[in-house]
Amino acid sequence: MEIKYTRRPEETYEIGKKLAESASPGQIYCLNGDLGVGKTVFTQGFASGLGILDPVNSPTFTILQEYDEGRMPLYHFDVYRIGDVEEMDEIGYEDCFYGDGVCLIEWAGLIEEIIPKTAIWVTIEKDPEKGMDYRKITIGS
Ligand code: ADP
Ligand code: MG
Repeated sequence: MEIKYTRRPEETYEIGKKLAESASPGQIYCLNGDLGVGKTVFTQGFASGLGILDPVNSPTFTILQEYDEGRMPLYHFDVYRIGDVEEMDEIGYEDCFYGDGVCLIEWAGLIEEIIPKTAIWVTIEKDPEKGMDYRKITIGS
């Protein structure tokens, strides 16, 4: 378990970028944290660390967005609007989870039952007492 603190979006971006630089195929990164906490900022950094230059946003309405231009495929999920975990089957999530790319799942806590035990959990939290831009980032298993 590793805990980091950031005070600017750029620092959260950088943490994502650094993690991606040592990421390997088959890994699943699960992002948790409230709306607006920085999950997408983290993901944007992660994408850049894989060498992806395309703009990355939350694929909220499609749930899954795939990026193929980096050193390995990135499967970016945002499951915030998922109604039932069965929707993940329809999307074909298993090909992503057990494929040759890396998965990053915003709001992964909502589909915890299908997340493999080997996944890496990243939790981002605010602390109003420490200012608007303060974030605590816990990276663990
Ligand atoms: P989420 O995907 O978790 O809903 P976003 O990444 O879309 O959140 O938005 C996070 C917002 O918080 C952005 O507007 C970003 O500029 C802002 N922000 C402020 N401070 C930080 C920080 N330390 N780390 C990440 N984002 C921050
Ligand atoms: Mg988001």
